[in-house]
Amino acid sequence: MRRYFPNATMADWNDWRWQLRNRIKNLGDLERILALSEDERTAVRNHKGSLPIGITPYYASLLSPDDPLEPLRRTHIPTGDEYLRSPGEADDPLGEDHDSAVPGLVHRYPDRVLFLATGTCSTYCRYCTRSRMVGDPGGDYSFPKSQWDKAIAYIEAHTEIRDVLLSGGDPLTLADDTLDYLLGRLRAIPHVEFLRIGTKVPVVLPMRVTRGFTRMLRKHHPLWISIHFTHPDELTPEVTEAVTRLADAGIPLGSQTVLLKGINDEVDTLKSLYHGLLMRRVRPYYLYQCDPITGSAHFRTSVEKGLEIMRGLRGHTTGYAVPTFVIDAPGGGGKIPLLPDYVVGRDGGDLLLTNFEGGLYRYPDPDGHIGSDRNIGGLL
Ligand SMILES: *Cc1c(COP(=O)(O)O)cnc(C)c1O
Repeated sequence: MRRYFPNATMADWNDWRWQLRNRIKNLGDLERILALSEDERTAVRNHKGSLPIGITPYYASLLSPDDPLEPLRRTHIPTGDEYLRSPGEADDPLGEDHDSAVPGLVHRYPDRVLFLATGTCSTYCRYCTRSRMVGDPGGDYSFPKSQWDKAIAYIEAHTEIRDVLLSGGDPLTLADDTLDYLLGRLRAIPHVEFLRIGTKVPVVLPMRVTRGFTRMLRKHHPLWISIHFTHPDELTPEVTEAVTRLADAGIPLGSQTVLLKGINDEVDTLKSLYHGLLMRRVRPYYLYQCDPITGSAHFRTSVEKGLEIMRGLRGHTTGYAVPTFVIDAPGGGGKIPLLPDYVVGRDGGDLLLTNFEGGLYRYPDPDGHIGSDRNIGGLL
């Protein structure tokens, strides 16, 4: 703030609207605060596609000014790899458009819906799974309020929907009274048992979580929030204050993290993130295998990498610190959980298991068949 916004006051900096107005959006803004590599400069200069560049000054202050490989910087500054399309990649790999009941409402699971309330984010992650529709995409994607009425009418007409997940874009970029109105309309539907919001705002724009805002949210309980965290470097005092306010408002908090190559794909990195989250009353919820979105190959790890990380967590740390590792199935299959295999085989009526330390254990399971393809009793 002192170096690049010398005219700003502390009150400006802590004002979320000031942060949005002063977002870093173009080559000139970026060159002022970062020493760009040739690759980054070319990628920004030749920026194409619908996913804008936009970084709040607050979040930009966390990026390394001179190291293009620093994790948070890699998640937000485009590189040339973003424009490469690899086999298996698609703009809408999860088939969300196909599962859209009405525009902006994805009805994939029988009892719950994903409500895309806005196309705006405060900060744009380069691996965004909805890059086709966020920012200023034009075409078929827009989020006028008139669309909300159709989505709400659909939910009203479908009494099997008991859970509405608001996402986007980021619903926390909406004004207090706008979000208040939407939450109120949804809570008024008798068969909707509870609401949830998916957001990255508490991490990239923590000043958005004002006392007035959490007072408003409290009116709409039961309300849960899932926060998109990537790396322990995001756990600043400002973020701590924001999540503390949300937790103090009685909102159960979960985290969602995308597994990203060279950014957070180490057990120690994720363990440190998850321990920090538990200390802040945020329960790790999902770890996602990176979706095969167009131009994301440089972010994607092998699936084994995710399993190796899960093996490194379970048993080695608090069970609450272990999220569910999922692949959101291309083609609209939904989230499919993956676990390392702890079944070693079978010895007659005993199921043979391995624990987190590699020890061998027996469980009496005379009626079972699991592991019978590996009847290794005789070998023991
Ligand atoms: C992730 C997701 C949900 C919510 O899934 P949970 O496992 O219940 O958290 C609902 N709808 C869609 C389309 C989703 O992608």
